[in-house]
Amino acid sequence: MRWGSRRESINIEDRRRLGPAGAGAGIGLGGILLVLLVSFLTGTNPLALLNLVETVQDVSSPPPASGPTGPPSDELGRFAAVVLADTEDTWRQLMPARDKSYEEPRLVLFTRSVRSACGLGSAATGPFYCPSDAKVYLDLSFFDELARRFGAPGDFAQAYVIAHEIGHHVQNLLGIADRVSRRQRQVSEREANALSVRTELQADCFAGVWGYHARRDRNLIEPGDFEEGLRAASAIGDDRLQHLSQGYVQPESWTHGSSDQRQSWLRRGLERGEPEACNTFSESETAL
Ligand SMILES: [Zn+2]
Repeated sequence: MRWGSRRESINIEDRRRLGPAGAGAGIGLGGILLVLLVSFLTGTNPLALLNLVETVQDVSSPPPASGPTGPPSDELGRFAAVVLADTEDTWRQLMPARDKSYEEPRLVLFTRSVRSACGLGSAATGPFYCPSDAKVYLDLSFFDELARRFGAPGDFAQAYVIAHEIGHHVQNLLGIADRVSRRQRQVSEREANALSVRTELQADCFAGVWGYHARRDRNLIEPGDFEEGLRAASAIGDDRLQHLSQGYVQPESWTHGSSDQRQSWLRRGLERGEPEACNTFSESETAL
């Protein structure tokens, strides 16, 4: 990507120096032992319980400390700020035609773990978007993991990760996220997972829409960039991840889509460049 000397977004909140807001940090050793005991007795995942405890605590504890805002000075931080700025330019241009204005989201950089309005996030669960505070949370060490563990290096692979999360913000602004989660509460787990897959594939396609405009409108893209992104989309497909972690594949438990699906929806966005090309909800299951 030709990202040097580009505009850097001011919507960055750098919490990397604040230290980890680790799971259990607020409840002490006794609390952790209690959680482990309850988890043992009830058969609940201890991490889920810890998250719950933390979420409950969040109500009474002061709001999370926020780090400095504005573009960071380190190379990787600046890169993230440039990509974020370019998604702002793209969606600011695309949203008014859809009768919405684009409210710019914040990108929170953190190390290891972070408090969000959606509860605790950690580097282990990967980057995420929290609709309640309209922020994207990213531990930049995920880019290393993408390159080493998933075999998907390259700056556009990294940009795709950010643009995918911004895609979830766009879904939030368009009211899609709300409609999906309302529906998910009414259906079986299997159907809820299928809805999650459609949501994630749409975020992939929206990431592609950004890539299209980054290339056409601002000449940010170099030859080979899109291939890096497509390789990354394929590397984090549910079938690939399940195969790596458990050795077999269970399509009914997918929440993000297969490697093929993720790649083809990202490609569709990259080629078409308009959000309307990303209606994953109107496609039949086999056409996904
Ligand atoms: Zn996602």
